[in-house]
Amino acid sequence: MKYWKKYSKEKLIARIDEALASTIDFQNSKHLGYPVSKLDENVFNTSGAFLKDSPLLKSFISNPNNIGCHTLGKSEPAFKGSQELEKEVIKVLAVDIFKAKENEYDGYIATGGTEANIQALWIYRNLYKKEFNATLDEMVILSSIDTHYSVNKGSNLLSVDNVQIPVDFNTRELITEELDQIVSNLIANGKKYFMVISNMATTMFGSVDNPDVYAEILTKHKVPFKIHVDGAFGGFIYPISNRKSTINFENPNLSSITIDAHKMLQAPYGTGVFLCRKNLIENVLTKEAQYVDGMDLTIVGSRSGANAIAVWMILFSYGYYGWFEKINTLLLRTEWFCNQLDDLGIEYYRNEFMNIVTLKSAYVPEDLAKKFGVVPQTHEGDNHWYKVIMMDHVEIDDLLKFINELKVS
Ligand SMILES: *Cc1c(COP(=O)(O)O)cnc(C)c1O
Repeated sequence: MKYWKKYSKEKLIARIDEALASTIDFQNSKHLGYPVSKLDENVFNTSGAFLKDSPLLKSFISNPNNIGCHTLGKSEPAFKGSQELEKEVIKVLAVDIFKAKENEYDGYIATGGTEANIQALWIYRNLYKKEFNATLDEMVILSSIDTHYSVNKGSNLLSVDNVQIPVDFNTRELITEELDQIVSNLIANGKKYFMVISNMATTMFGSVDNPDVYAEILTKHKVPFKIHVDGAFGGFIYPISNRKSTINFENPNLSSITIDAHKMLQAPYGTGVFLCRKNLIENVLTKEAQYVDGMDLTIVGSRSGANAIAVWMILFSYGYYGWFEKINTLLLRTEWFCNQLDDLGIEYYRNEFMNIVTLKSAYVPEDLAKKFGVVPQTHEGDNHWYKVIMMDHVEIDDLLKFINELKVS
């Protein structure tokens, strides 16, 4: 890990203070034309000794705006400090976790995985329009049936059809022959340009699609394609637990990645991350965004610089090894849980690198599922699965209670 280090608390606070000092001082500022200010001190408690050791609260009070994308071009000078910290976050994720080459990536902290996924689709739609003069009905989105519904939102907003590929009921793997057949049919029906959302851990199963399967089939059919990896859930686990993972920027088939910091990283909501290779994000330049100094290449406009600081704090409080240990604790709990299920003869799905276990619903009485807050695959109609996620707060003692009740049910 070149950039992902662990910093002392003093260093973290000093860096954040430095960043906030370079954010415009609204008290004494000459920025008469900015529709921004710090939090309203008539309403919020914005001063006091408690702030000394609370860099995140101080950041919220300063209220920097990280509008725009800061990995290229110019940016608003008024919020330089929090943008610099955001750039460090993006660098750690792109270079250290997802193996991008130095300065060969762009990215920003989006409102969440939903925005980051839609950002990718928006980029590829515009790219196909620009490069091939493609019409909307010549393009199509492919993803598995286990894909997050944000992709359906993107399809609807962008007016590009979305086609879902079946997966095997037990392994949750893409059914290659079906994918091949579907692509053939789509081409026969006039589709020419493909965008793929490949899951790096689905929300319900923690299953991971092999993006090379999409790449092979689309290459065989000789159609242009772009692959986006949805790592909203798995982005902070899978590349760390599976050191042989090829789902990263060393894989030439992949162009962009979503990673949510507000799931596994326990950051405040509003911290999804979008990453892509260079020379892609310009496809969504909004030329009319003239009042913003620098380019606005993002779906969201104004966004919280404090959120960027929060993600920075988490990454550099743990450092790579601290995070590695935390993930391994969760995976140990997952192993323990799976062993118990094996002993009970309960069938389940689990990806060995992930902290989600999805139980076949036949083994879980509905009242137990409700009592323990395990989540059904669907709230309507036939539900086949319930999932348990080993998060920080889900300890073996909690799992044990569930196991004990499963035993007697
Ligand atoms: C949660 C999730 C999303 C959506 O993320 P939000 O941050 O809720 O917008 C997208 N994809 C996957 C796989 C997810 O788990």
